[in-house]
Amino acid sequence: MRILKFGGTSLGNAQRLRNAADIVRNHTNCVVVCSAMAGVTNALEAVIISWKQGDKTRAFEQLKSIEENFAHHCFELFVAPASATRVIEDVQAMYVPVYELLGADYDPENDGKVLALGELVTSYIFNEYLRESGTDSFLMNAMDVLHLNGQDEPDVEDIAKKILSLDFYSGSGIYVSQGFICLDGQGRVSNLKRGGSDYTATLFGAALKADAIEIWTDIDGLHNNDPRFVPNTTPVRELSFAEAAELAYFGAKILHPSCVRPAREYEIPILLKNTLEPGAAGTIIGSQLTAGGIKAISAKDNITVLRITSGRMFNAYGFLKRLFEVFDSFRLPVDVVTTSEVSVSVTIEDDTHLEALRHELSKLGRVSIEREQCIVCVVGDVMPHVSGVLEKVEPFRVNMISLGASSNNITLVLPQENKTAALLALHALITNSQFQKLQPCTPLQA
Ligand code: ASP
Ligand code: MG
Repeated sequence: MRILKFGGTSLGNAQRLRNAADIVRNHTNCVVVCSAMAGVTNALEAVIISWKQGDKTRAFEQLKSIEENFAHHCFELFVAPASATRVIEDVQAMYVPVYELLGADYDPENDGKVLALGELVTSYIFNEYLRESGTDSFLMNAMDVLHLNGQDEPDVEDIAKKILSLDFYSGSGIYVSQGFICLDGQGRVSNLKRGGSDYTATLFGAALKADAIEIWTDIDGLHNNDPRFVPNTTPVRELSFAEAAELAYFGAKILHPSCVRPAREYEIPILLKNTLEPGAAGTIIGSQLTAGGIKAISAKDNITVLRITSGRMFNAYGFLKRLFEVFDSFRLPVDVVTTSEVSVSVTIEDDTHLEALRHELSKLGRVSIEREQCIVCVVGDVMPHVSGVLEKVEPFRVNMISLGASSNNITLVLPQENKTAALLALHALITNSQFQKLQPCTPLQA
């Protein structure tokens, strides 16, 4: 059994939906995880903003235009006009409760219901299309099986139990479901945050002990550098889970940052595949150790560095505990940490409570803050290349350097204005030749 997750652009119009259906039809036993058609989640977020601003007329109009857009795709997709009409009517019925919501005053508790429409409608249309074109598939509502626990975290074993108890789920066959959407710890319609469909795919894969999780997008795998800033990037053929997790967390847009975790824990390979070139190898992410060399680089913007300097740290214990308790009290994740005997530097992404945070931290020592920084993450067998990396970033004012204990990454923090230059300089260290010897994707291809 496999998980096949399709991103929004891969389901973005009638032709794309047909291509995705052709890929699904190569399988007899899979769960298809659908994102919302490209642009729909953004458009639904805009509806919520208008609603929040009290502009109900605008919110209605915006929702109407999303609905009409879906109808347009249905007319193109379904061969029989009667099928298109039937599906459009069903889709209209899915919109009715959301129009009703918009008629009342804005309540943030309902955001999840509005956002869920994108995935619900897209998966419904896709499933109907598969069935109309002769593939016997079942619609599986993610909200019936993906319920967050009391800490608002997903629970793989609970998902497994819920899927296996569905009366139409036989363990074999084609099931179409939604990415992103779920019920939260209080049973409200919610989601796994933007880009969360990848995470749904790996959670389902782990729950069903899938042979592989295929993430279908419209690029040929995870690239070895950020193609928005560096020319001639190429796909990385093979990554370990740890390497992929670092890249996804530190900027690689192709994967949701949390999605590697369930796959890694249950040792299920992830394949990144291209719907526009289904035969291409793509990227495989697995637990096997791969050939050496620097494989890939990614970067993440809008990072704030906090440096806390204190003589009290010297030869004392308990200082770091007190320091991290401050971050804990703000529920703030810390990304990179470096320490010396008298100072600690940490990075955070969310600086909403920066002044309050500074105030609390200043009780522990002198605090300096630098904003507009970026994290650059260099991944691969980095140990033999440390001096090479440092040489490349020498022209920049590097604020922090961290060498991961697993020695599969070096993380650097430097001013955001130097990001492109640093990515370009470091690109020269990537050794692609090693991958030509490997053909890791062959045995796992669809
Ligand atoms: N539709 C959601 C988003 O655009 C989830 C996803 O596509 O992964 O963020
Ligand atoms: Mg995505």
